[in-house]
Amino acid sequence: MKQSLEIFNRLVSELLADEAENPVAEHIPSTELYERLDIKLQKEGISATALENSLKSLVFASPRTATPGFFNQLFGGRQDKAVLGDLMSVILNNSMYTYKAAGPQVGVEKAILREVCDMVGWGPQADGALAPGGSMTNFMGMMMARDAFNDQIRFEGVAQKMTVYTSAEGHYSTQKNAAFVGIGRAGVRKIATDDQGRMDMAVLRATIQDDIAKGYHPVLINCTAGTTVLGVFDDLVAASAIAKEHNIWLHVDGAYGGAVLFSDTYKHLIKGVENADSFTINAHKTLGTPLSCSLIVVKDKKHLHDSFSNDASYLYQTDEDDFNPGKTSVQCGRRNDALKLWVLWKSVGTNGLEKIVDKQFELADTARAYIRNNPDYTDYSEDNTIAACFNYKGIPAEDICTALYEHSELLVGYGSFRDDTFIRLVTVNATNENEDILNFFKTLEAFVAKNENLLTQTVAA
Ligand SMILES: *Cc1c(COP(=O)(O)O)cnc(C)c1O
Repeated sequence: MKQSLEIFNRLVSELLADEAENPVAEHIPSTELYERLDIKLQKEGISATALENSLKSLVFASPRTATPGFFNQLFGGRQDKAVLGDLMSVILNNSMYTYKAAGPQVGVEKAILREVCDMVGWGPQADGALAPGGSMTNFMGMMMARDAFNDQIRFEGVAQKMTVYTSAEGHYSTQKNAAFVGIGRAGVRKIATDDQGRMDMAVLRATIQDDIAKGYHPVLINCTAGTTVLGVFDDLVAASAIAKEHNIWLHVDGAYGGAVLFSDTYKHLIKGVENADSFTINAHKTLGTPLSCSLIVVKDKKHLHDSFSNDASYLYQTDEDDFNPGKTSVQCGRRNDALKLWVLWKSVGTNGLEKIVDKQFELADTARAYIRNNPDYTDYSEDNTIAACFNYKGIPAEDICTALYEHSELLVGYGSFRDDTFIRLVTVNATNENEDILNFFKTLEAFVAKNENLLTQTVAA
């Protein structure tokens, strides 16, 4: 173990030094991958030195998600205390199903979930669970919605035509999850949005009424707190009124933006979340922990037990259900995703988490101000989001993003809303400074100036 830790320390030190100089790893086309790197496996083992060299070339060639050159998805940066916590959970290697196997780590998970439930404004009946990502915590929400509608489905299977509602801008996990739980992708109603990209509540209401008239059973309204492309927040107050009227489960998919719960300045964006039945937050997105750390909290923990518990005498041998989280999780063996958030939270306090969230909005404001004050840019962003959406000099977003990637300049993606496609700069890495955001634009502009031959095609502004 000592030798492996020494290798680890060396490689990490070298990587961090190199990242400071080269924020973007050299692009390796997928077609050349196996020629350029020693990835293939072989029958005989190799020496520690050969292994270290092989691992080093792999590590150095991997996309650098913690640098100011990475804006490609809804995660990025490295909150060092969270990294410390995650490394510890690897060393400890507890499995989170029972108190017997995880001991105080169960308390760590419970403390996080309790605190989040309190912040939402829920009482002692509330609880939650962790799963490997927002797609999976959303899945848990949909399972509970289905079983709350009909508590026999989990025994007998699906016999009724059920429907779920999410906005046209909602995350694609809703469609996949509808297939998983037996509702089917055809049971997903994608509700049109208003001009800001939020679910149109009048359309939602009318669609539900229409479905009921046709004999469908609406079981879930999925609201999005932070849509994946524009980053906007559905109106939870209006949605909960509709959910209540028809006795439909309300889930809030806050995988991207749910962490505004931690910010006094921005929590108004999820006003009414306490009226939801379940709520997802990805700490690995907006709280900056390593992947993955996704929480679902539920107003009434009865639903977690109803949908996910199963007796297993070979597993549950000691302690109360509350200390055996395997009874409320999708998995059996489960890695400890809570410790990284706990170490970060313990270290910086709730106020420190608030600063992380506020910083993301500040960085987005910096980006939007730059775009809006510069006539070479077309702005598609919404305020009160952590995404800056734009086009530059009318160049198609796809061309510019791909060229930046292939030339190892920047990793940034593009998205679409209605008829527009644009570059989406996500300021989720709170370890960045305003200067890093301005450098992003400088790098992009210098790249375009140098490569005008590559990027001649234009779109109408
Ligand atoms: C990212 C995202 C998800 C999925 O979360 P994963 O952790 O990537 O599975 C779900 N919903 C929204 C709104 C997201 O942005």
